[in-house]
Amino acid sequence: MSKMLPLVELQNVDTQLRDINELLGDLPKKVDKLRSEEEELINDVETGKSRLKEIELSLNKAEHKMADLKQKIDKLKDQLSLVTSNKQYDALTQEIEYLKVELDEVETADLEDEEEKESLSKDLEEKEENLESLSKDLSSRRVKLEELMSESAESKSALEKTRQEKLGYIDESILSRYDRVSTARDGLAVVKLEGSACGGCGFVVPPQDVTDIRDKDNYYTCDICSRFIYLFKK
Ligand SMILES: [Zn+2]
Repeated sequence: MSKMLPLVELQNVDTQLRDINELLGDLPKKVDKLRSEEEELINDVETGKSRLKEIELSLNKAEHKMADLKQKIDKLKDQLSLVTSNKQYDALTQEIEYLKVELDEVETADLEDEEEKESLSKDLEEKEENLESLSKDLSSRRVKLEELMSESAESKSALEKTRQEKLGYIDESILSRYDRVSTARDGLAVVKLEGSACGGCGFVVPPQDVTDIRDKDNYYTCDICSRFIYLFKK
């Protein structure tokens, strides 16, 4: 039974497990981000809609108010021809002026409301479109995520099982060394000899050691990065 082979296989399994965990670690975050974007948009749309209702109510009120003021002004104008004194005439004219100013104010506010309504409606339309596409995106991502998670759960449990099997072939002391190096070296504790260099850090291995690594089935670790270095004869 080869000494190095189970260790190489263990590294292989651990690398795959690491990839799966990284993938799973990232995806739920992406879905969460989409979800909070969706919530924000839903809030915006709701706020916009209730503001739109307010504006419409205010427009409606203004319309009545304007009609009312115009009617009052017309009535007062009619009365002007009936007055008998200058004093009455002045009083009526003043009242008419006063009502005209009020009408002007209502009309200005009405115009502002109309403008706000127009821009708000456009904005709402855009947001509702965004929301629709975001919701579609989100639900398809959710489906993908769920698929991926169940697939990964299967791969993970298969890998864990393989890992346990491999552990049975490796000495306790070697295993603890493997764990230490793996933790220190970003999950990579076993590397191939690349030419005559360590596949992890690039340190050039002395020629005699290269021969040993190739010909002897022994544990060899890099002087610089402490990773196990292997090379299988073809
Ligand atoms: Zn190295």
